[in-house]
Amino acid sequence: TWDIELHNLSGGYNQTRILKGINGSLPAGKISVILGGSGCGKSTLLRHILGLNRPMEGSIRIGGHDFFTLDKSQFRKIRRRMGVLFQDGALLGSLTLGENVGLPLAEHTKLPKETIRKIVLHKLGLVGLAEYIDYYPNELSGGMRKRAGLARAIVMDPQILLCDEPTSGLDPINAAEMDQLLLSMKKHFPSMSIIVVSHDLESLNHIADNVLVINKGQAAYCGDLEGLQNSD
Ligand code: ADP
Ligand code: ADP
Repeated sequence: TWDIELHNLSGGYNQTRILKGINGSLPAGKISVILGGSGCGKSTLLRHILGLNRPMEGSIRIGGHDFFTLDKSQFRKIRRRMGVLFQDGALLGSLTLGENVGLPLAEHTKLPKETIRKIVLHKLGLVGLAEYIDYYPNELSGGMRKRAGLARAIVMDPQILLCDEPTSGLDPINAAEMDQLLLSMKKHFPSMSIIVVSHDLESLNHIADNVLVINKGQAAYCGDLEGLQNSD
């Protein structure tokens, strides 16, 4: 399984240390929410888990492997099993929804176009957007674009789904819908690790199995939601 474990992880950018000795685990099959105020290092941690930044000290273990001591091909294999929902959905305006969602498949597989379209249609169906496959992003609402971003994040059947502020910029109804979608992803892909960066407490209460609270680059809490509620 694809449990993620952070061992005394320190990291950041070049000489700037942002994360200072983080310990915690983000188990497979669960929704783990990384919580913390603005600027505390949540996105930086996400970049480390994605392999975009190297740890300065400590390690990230994914499925028991030290992510940063793997050779290039093993590293890529793990990277390909990660899907990301970016904060703004990150759809390309010149492509239709179907083309956007199918992009990882077109780039990383040799599947024929018709097969890709079938997979895309299925994934768009999971986020309630199947009938919008030929629309362009600017023809959709912000909430729909975010859902499309989620469809793209899961199009390669990732083992690790990383979501950066999935409810930010959404009104309460769309935010609640996003929470429901993340819960349905957990049901649909029971072995997937879902990691959500958030500062939305409402959303946290709805979706989190596990919470990693970051304060000033350190892990202030890592454990289940009940434990967090009892700790303050
Ligand atoms: P959060 O996601 O919790 O809001 P970030 O991880 O984005 O926090 O930022 C943590 C700190 O890292 C901030 O002080 C920010 O200024 C700094 N930071 C972010 N990106 C870079 C970068 N590319 N180079 C140097 N410092 C950065
Ligand atoms: P590299 O170019 O370093 O060999 P890959 O070919 O594995 O790495 O991936 C290229 C880019 O595509 C990476 O930035 C990766 O984040 C992105 N990517 C791969 N799979 C997916 C996916 N399922 N969803 C979103 N982005 C992906």
